[in-house]
Amino acid sequence: MKYFLLIITIVFTFTLNAQKTHKRTLKLMGSRFDITVIAATEKEANTYIDIAVAEITRIENLISSWDSNSQTSEINRNAGIKPVKVDKELYDLIERAIHISKLTDGAFDISYASMDRIWKFDGSVTEMPKESVIKASVAKVGYQNIVLNKENQTVFLKLEGMKIGFGAIGKGYAADKAKQLLQTKGVKAGIINASGDMNTWGKQTNGDDWNVGITNPLNKNNVFALLPISGKAVVTSGNYEKFIMLNGKRYSHIIDPRTGYPSSGIVSVSVFAPSAELADALATSIFVMGKDVGLNFINQLNGIECIIVDDKGKIAHSKNIDIQNKLKN
Ligand code: ADP
Ligand code: MG
Repeated sequence: MKYFLLIITIVFTFTLNAQKTHKRTLKLMGSRFDITVIAATEKEANTYIDIAVAEITRIENLISSWDSNSQTSEINRNAGIKPVKVDKELYDLIERAIHISKLTDGAFDISYASMDRIWKFDGSVTEMPKESVIKASVAKVGYQNIVLNKENQTVFLKLEGMKIGFGAIGKGYAADKAKQLLQTKGVKAGIINASGDMNTWGKQTNGDDWNVGITNPLNKNNVFALLPISGKAVVTSGNYEKFIMLNGKRYSHIIDPRTGYPSSGIVSVSVFAPSAELADALATSIFVMGKDVGLNFINQLNGIECIIVDDKGKIAHSKNIDIQNKLKN
């Protein structure tokens, strides 16, 4: 009887502390977020998820260019007027964004935000706009005109009408920060997924790595590869609904900030990297660079991999990624 009670107690304690996967889906930063944590109880999981939500909301308030009270809006309002002092966090993010612009030869550029919206993806654009109009649309774009002053922690946009926006890096950054915060709170494993921009840590409750399914957007029901991503970030970029067909060519919603022309040839890019911020920015850059330049670029970066689906449905990948063995039938 004594032993029986002991066993019951052990089993009971084990069940009480059994780690389970808890997930919450909600809208943040104008996008769908799926926050997954491993925790012993639902109450504990909810506490952790609330912490992640508060962190993502805090970042949104800092970097949103829609919210007129954000520091980012203040920078934009003062374009061509004066430098604006910002939090170190925002200053550092802008500094890293400029670094990525240099690395990608301007394919990635947070000052894309001042581009005139001449490309509309609602079916209304039926012919190629005039070259002069396209060229003029990017007149205010150029990361070289974002002036940083480290000592004063200020940001100055040199040209009047210039604007910055974090559409291609912000969700990744938020995923990274929410992950870091939950790790410091002692959460052993989880996934922050911001509409396909995700960062992960730890393992599933059964000891397996977290997996990410890569789909071919031209054949939506088909997950063609299932890849382990424990401890790493993966970002998939591509809006298959948003494109324009002109003279039989498909143009995507990501625009080359240097020329004003929409990118073409690629329908989806997934980038694997240590941080979601970097993966996010690089995924956007690869669209602009195109398949060959993009692959070549990623192959030169350590610890970063990518998978590209082109507009013919063909799949290409960087040299160190082993998708062959991971292909699903
Ligand atoms: P999504 O969020 O649609 O998956 P991305 O992460 O690639 O896609 O970001 C696309 C967004 O990034 C655009 O909606 C726009 O806000 C912004 N953007 C577009 N082109 C560029 C660019 N060349 N550099 C930086 N940001 C860009
Ligand atoms: Mg991106």
